[in-house]
Amino acid sequence: MERTLIEKTPGLVGQIIKLRGWVSIRRDHGKLIFIDLRDRTGKIQMVIIPDKEEAYNAAKEVRNEYIIEVEGLVKARPGGAKNEKTPTGGVEIEVEKLLVITKPEVEFPVNIADEEMNLQLETLLDNRTVTLRNEKIKAIFKIYAEMVGAYARFMKGESFVEIKTPKILNSATEGGANFFKIKYFDQDAYLAQSPQFYKQAGAAVFERVFEIGSVFRAEPHYTTRHVNEYIGLDAEMAFIDSFEEVMDELEKTMQYVIGEIAKNCPAELALYGVEISPVEKIPRMKLTEALEILDKEYGKKMEDVDIDAEGERLICEWVKKNHNSDFVFLTHYPTNIRPFYSMPSPDPQYTETFDLLFMGVEIASGGQRIHDYNQLVASMKKHHLNPEDFAHYLDIFKYGIPPHGGWGLGSERIVQKILGLGSIKEAVLFPRDVKRLTP
Ligand code: ATP
Ligand code: MG
Repeated sequence: MERTLIEKTPGLVGQIIKLRGWVSIRRDHGKLIFIDLRDRTGKIQMVIIPDKEEAYNAAKEVRNEYIIEVEGLVKARPGGAKNEKTPTGGVEIEVEKLLVITKPEVEFPVNIADEEMNLQLETLLDNRTVTLRNEKIKAIFKIYAEMVGAYARFMKGESFVEIKTPKILNSATEGGANFFKIKYFDQDAYLAQSPQFYKQAGAAVFERVFEIGSVFRAEPHYTTRHVNEYIGLDAEMAFIDSFEEVMDELEKTMQYVIGEIAKNCPAELALYGVEISPVEKIPRMKLTEALEILDKEYGKKMEDVDIDAEGERLICEWVKKNHNSDFVFLTHYPTNIRPFYSMPSPDPQYTETFDLLFMGVEIASGGQRIHDYNQLVASMKKHHLNPEDFAHYLDIFKYGIPPHGGWGLGSERIVQKILGLGSIKEAVLFPRDVKRLTP
């Protein structure tokens, strides 16, 4: 007999079927044994009665998280409609045969059957291979997968070409200290802390490119929004007239991605009590305006002309209150806090760049890039970088590239914020932080 998936069971009342999956819970009621079985498509209740002696004896040995195969009769559940909160709540399986496929060798360190495990972050992550089995935790990664898939679909629909760029580099991409040095045969190499240069090379060829790829940051952060390896959703687009077009594109992307999560993950969102409303037009304001608002409304003065994490949180609060938006673009960051390749504004103190904030944190940085070779070399020098160290990068401009711009969007922060997770690490399958290289 072929295996049936649990989601198909409501349509199979009266038939004998075979299921395979994990035992979520075994409960005994008098002489009856109840097992909740789950597979990738759902969960169903099974009953084992003493009359089916072999199955019954086998069931008596079964514990939570055993991996089993059963054959049994699909029956409408006596409880009727009140069980039909879940798609398979209206049916149950009367088990005829039960076979243990694999069983755990040891006790589980945590009770993953509880919807709310209420674990410390460290415990949750130390036992990741186990805690991932919990329904609510699994839901995070279903939503994550939907998000990444939606991003790729949208980009392709907008005729961006998907590229994959190298993560082992022979020099640190943008200068700076936040790169990991590795041994590469008989030389030193670095892990990429951005696909920036390669996606610009891509834009010079394909006009529009996007990448979903690993980004490594050797920042010794202890925050709720940083990990040392994350997945960046990058894009770069050529023949733009201004960086407003880059924001337009990112805005449309977020509208689609958030919309797809709302449409395709209702059950997962419900586990977190989250209702998503459509993303409307995203307000845009200059960074200097944001700083004025922070000063006036919150009495918060920033030391330099930049915004810190608390400022980002407060300005999002203000935008939510005054514009009813979870998103805001802050624009025109000062030249001295943006990378050398940023296009200067008509007032050259500022740049044609933006950050996108979502529910209190930065989720993306982007802008128009300098495309003129001589201007770029001059900008490098102003940033105390040696153009000779960037010879291959500069080739892109030597041979000509259209005006272009793009963004780097962090994937994990989006899911963290949608679900209200305390730490970004909860939105990473196996996170890497300053202290954590395992599991
Ligand atoms: P922050 O100021 O929050 O540290 P950043 O400005 O250094 O971020 P960018 O270089 O602009 O980050 O990277 C683009 C996006 O990648 C960020 O907006 C964010 O969503 C994500 N990102 C950057 N660093 C990290 C990190 N260490 N962990 C997780 N996501 C990150
Ligand atoms: Mg940034």
